[in-house]
Amino acid sequence: MINKRTKIVATMGPSSNSQETIEEMIKKGLNVCRINFSHGAYEDHAQTIRNIRSADKELGTHTAILADLQGPKLRVGKFEGEGLQLVDGKEIIFTTKKEEAHKIYITYPQFARDVKIGETILLDDGKLQLEVLSTNGKDEVKAKVLHGGLLKDKKGVNLPNTRISLPCLTQKDLEDLEFALDMDIDWIGLSFVRSARDIIELKHIIRSREKHARVVAKIEKPEAIQEIDDIIRETDALMVARGDLGVEIPLQNVPLVQKMLVNKALKSSKPVIVATQMMESMIQDVTPTRAEVNDVANAVLDGADAVMLSAETSVGKHPIRVIEVMSAIVTEIEGSDQIYHHEEAPAESQEDRYVTDSICFNATRLSKRVKAGAIITMTFSGYTGFKISSQRPKADIFVFTGNKSILTQMSLVWGVRSFFYDKMVSTDHTIADIKYILKKMELVQPGEQLIHLASMPMNEQGMTNMLKLDKV
Ligand code: PGA
Ligand code: MN
Repeated sequence: MINKRTKIVATMGPSSNSQETIEEMIKKGLNVCRINFSHGAYEDHAQTIRNIRSADKELGTHTAILADLQGPKLRVGKFEGEGLQLVDGKEIIFTTKKEEAHKIYITYPQFARDVKIGETILLDDGKLQLEVLSTNGKDEVKAKVLHGGLLKDKKGVNLPNTRISLPCLTQKDLEDLEFALDMDIDWIGLSFVRSARDIIELKHIIRSREKHARVVAKIEKPEAIQEIDDIIRETDALMVARGDLGVEIPLQNVPLVQKMLVNKALKSSKPVIVATQMMESMIQDVTPTRAEVNDVANAVLDGADAVMLSAETSVGKHPIRVIEVMSAIVTEIEGSDQIYHHEEAPAESQEDRYVTDSICFNATRLSKRVKAGAIITMTFSGYTGFKISSQRPKADIFVFTGNKSILTQMSLVWGVRSFFYDKMVSTDHTIADIKYILKKMELVQPGEQLIHLASMPMNEQGMTNMLKLDKV
């Protein structure tokens, strides 16, 4: 298994669904499998999930699964023949009633009511651009084609200026969420998040089902950028969803937004995924473009927890090789000292986390001073794992936990390797036992300094309040 810090998320699909392929991808550095609920049937998703879990069993790994909910994604309907040719300067009617010849059906019942004259309509990832001329306020909107082309079936619609009145969790999302929670998925991604309330609502449902899934807020709307601090406070992780983001805001704004999001996520100890088109040319080719290599490298340098593959692994020709190439880039960049020791004293900690936050902060500083080989933490909630990781120590981060959901969730988190351990007896005994396990696995070397974090007394499973510096 490859020992890198930055995690790799790969979207599952026909190219990568089989247990055999998943195993090979894990061996090359895959950490998180993303199930995209925009495509595919439940039986297929269920089979993929079973394959991931079997692969894990075979390899002794803890691959995380991310269920990605589509959210209020707008699409056009189907057309007769090849599609509808949109001609520059011509007018076209959008309808919300039903598919009709020479009109564009759109899956957004309130469209005619929400949209205003002069607003922009973008189709097919922004390749086609229109401007609203008029609306009947009920079911039809007239628009002028600014940049035309062939519009094919089911292409996406982005309305960057329109206040969309659709709920963040659509009926389809609620059904997909039920399925994902039944399957005990680790992470739930929510597309087109617009406000912190969207996250609160999703978390409320997860909690009411007594599940432990954590939430990834996909940032791809200008409204979300406006409310980013509130969203980060409520969510467990972020995704820089550059695909739709680059349609909803000017393309040239995406790089700085990426850096802003990664910075803010790091400061709040929330993992952040950089997504979309990272290795796009490898859908076909066996090597990435120079620009793609730089993009992956820069995401690592920015401080991303994870980099993501979409079509490259779901429908691409080289699902295993693309992971191998991405791992190689990531590993090379991790050789640079500049990504380590993002030292951030805990911002005004809440009272109840003050002790733990201080311990984590100082554990990382100490690890730098004594050039520790590893920081080892015993946790049930995972809290110290997230905290230590966000300080980006150069030391390895080993999380020992008796909590099965933490075991897999941690696979998304920068630098963390997790191990199942439920024999917490006394602090002394557990520390010695864990040291023995790591030595046997050759994950720590003789003479190395180790930093152990734990809570005392251990059997109470309270918050982390103890740090021990120790030699192998
Ligand atoms: P998607 O999300 O692939 O579900 O659209 C990622 C993105 O928009 O970048
Ligand atoms: Mn998207």
